[in-house]
Amino acid sequence: MIRFTALQAVQNNTTNFAATEEKKSTILSKYVFTNEKMERYLGKQAYKQYQSDLQMGQPISEDLADQIAAAMRTWAMEHGASHYTHWFQPLTGLTAEKHDSFLDIFNGSGIEKFTGSALIQQEPDASSFPSGGIRNTFEARGYTAWDPTSPAFLMKSGGGFTLCIPTIFVSYTGEALDYKAPLLKAIHQLDLAATAVCKYFDNKVNRVTATLGIEQEYFLIDAALYNARPDLLISGRTLFGHLPAKGQQLDDHYFGSIPERVQAFMIDFENEALKLGIPLKTRHNEVAPSQFECAPNFEELNLAVDHNQLLMDVIDKTARRHNFRSILHEKPFANVNGSGKHCNFSMGTDTGENLLSPGKTPNKNFRFLAFFVNVIKAVYDHADLLRASIASASNDHRLGANEAPPAIISVFVGNQLYKVMQSLKNNKLEHFEDDAEGWIAINAPQIPNLTKDNTDRNRTSPFAFTGNKFEFRAVGSSQNTSAPMTVLTTAVARQLVQFKNDVDHRTAQGENLSQAIVDVLQGYITVSEPILFEGNNYSEEWAQEAAKRGLSNKKTTPTALDAYVSDKSLSLFKDLGIMGHIELHARHEIMLETYVHKVQIESRIMGELAMTHVVPAAIRHLNELIDSLSKLKNLGLQANTQAMEESVIEISNHITAIKTNVRNMVDARKGANKLDDMREKAIAYCEEVKPYFNVVRYHSDKLEILIDDSYWPLPKYRELLFLR
Ligand code: ADP
Ligand code: MG
Repeated sequence: MIRFTALQAVQNNTTNFAATEEKKSTILSKYVFTNEKMERYLGKQAYKQYQSDLQMGQPISEDLADQIAAAMRTWAMEHGASHYTHWFQPLTGLTAEKHDSFLDIFNGSGIEKFTGSALIQQEPDASSFPSGGIRNTFEARGYTAWDPTSPAFLMKSGGGFTLCIPTIFVSYTGEALDYKAPLLKAIHQLDLAATAVCKYFDNKVNRVTATLGIEQEYFLIDAALYNARPDLLISGRTLFGHLPAKGQQLDDHYFGSIPERVQAFMIDFENEALKLGIPLKTRHNEVAPSQFECAPNFEELNLAVDHNQLLMDVIDKTARRHNFRSILHEKPFANVNGSGKHCNFSMGTDTGENLLSPGKTPNKNFRFLAFFVNVIKAVYDHADLLRASIASASNDHRLGANEAPPAIISVFVGNQLYKVMQSLKNNKLEHFEDDAEGWIAINAPQIPNLTKDNTDRNRTSPFAFTGNKFEFRAVGSSQNTSAPMTVLTTAVARQLVQFKNDVDHRTAQGENLSQAIVDVLQGYITVSEPILFEGNNYSEEWAQEAAKRGLSNKKTTPTALDAYVSDKSLSLFKDLGIMGHIELHARHEIMLETYVHKVQIESRIMGELAMTHVVPAAIRHLNELIDSLSKLKNLGLQANTQAMEESVIEISNHITAIKTNVRNMVDARKGANKLDDMREKAIAYCEEVKPYFNVVRYHSDKLEILIDDSYWPLPKYRELLFLR
């Protein structure tokens, strides 16, 4: 039986990985065409031109593009690369690549070429990527276009290198068909809006960059055991499995010593990630057994998103090399903590300052408070949309599962800042002068000096201020972070535009600037206060309190996604030129369809495994029981058969329940499939099909602890989670 072969294979696994001796700083960005390399391969003059074009937002000339392409090719070929590809992020949530050879045949002989036009634009066959109907309505074509803000890199696979050019992917008529295009637009709008606001406080600021640091959680399971679980293989999570006697109740895994085989994998994948320029910094065991986390240093937002996409790929590839399989699913194991992807967001100025870091001078603090309050207001105004941006079939299992933030978006600011907000609102900031919490008196009107406070962190909040950044914790571990970051960036940009309008309106009427800013911020605090919550977000009381405050609590994806196409969201994206109605409706449709497919796949594999794995094993055990039972009776030992009879009844009841519910689930699926409207179909899958999962699973899990272990075909939780 495959389960036992797999268990044998785990036993025979040994670590024979020898880590490179090279220093991390030496291998960092080895496979990245960094600015420094570009300057070296391109020459000083051309490089200067390129940088100035970038800064000014000017298109790069054909001639310069040719030179850059040639420089990239030379560098790539020195590493042995023979192909290049535009690397993009279609709405599947994955990354896509189509490799082209540098080789050109010229007069019968070969020559390596990479032109500027091939660097700048490509026309991949886009017909098989999801477009939500955009291409049908307009043009069949889609094209990819170079994103010079994310450097080209070399992807190593199958022993060969490919030069990868990060690109956006848009339809011929300009609608975004990917995650990157709207993100870049949002980042640009945030730069404009935030820079304008910075000018109130410091004239020297000319540019604001959004920054992001992404913590990635994942599970690591032995490959042989993983392969013996068709549910994991096909749907990314276990659809069956009785809770093991020992789970995470002893809290002995978190920050525990990292198992040797896992450590070897980590060293290997970290080195591969570093070579791709991903600045990984931390690694540790997570709460659940076999769960781990890594986090890089933060980077410019667009780059951080690209790097996380790459990182997921590197984790997957490296895990396979080490006879592991990585699981990025948000909830691969029932009753065991799921995985998230904390997105640490802030904004930095070209003068080197973090706008969400309380500063050392009153003026800096004033600016900090302005940005801080504006982010909170943005989250308050667009909480629904933020919730929608993290909605997926897989994240539904995690959000609100009493281990991850609930589906209710709220903001945690910490005790100190909460008091500051209250005082600012009530015009009583001077109360904080010289008090015991370390505030220092200042002489500017109304604004206290703030000290950075990292102490009272609230791990249950979906959106928490953590000293010098906001941490969006509800994001799912398998997600492309582009979607939530596009929403957040857009909402903050829109809010900062509003802020500037509101302040300018007051100063135009003669109000003094500082007073105008304070007045406007006071208004924002009053309005957005309901979003602030400092307590335990996992508690039932919070769900009730949030309902009283009018905060929404959309527990499942099909209806949470409505926020993408609400009037408020449509105008938010349209006002700033990020996405139009067609694009948003298309995205909405694609996300609903993805949801349907995910649940459909789970339902199919669940039905199949229940009938072909679970029930036959149970019947085998049942037959033996019946056999023994009749033998006992033949021997005239009627008095000793009662326990066995009970087992026969119990097991056959579970078998009957499984069969009945699988049949009903299939019927529910058929009903859902008849619906044409994608939203209705998704709701039907959610409400009519999905509920059977728990029922079928319940009976199967009961059988798992009733029948002979040697008949059970699926690796058990204790084996999946504890053997390596
Ligand atoms: P924790 O687990 O306590 O949240 P980690 O060290 O795992 O902390 O992750 C914190 C993340 O926040 C890191 O990726 C870090 O680089 C990032 N970070 C720190 N400062 C900023 C900032 N100004 N902007 C964005 N991200 C930041
Ligand atoms: Mg964190």
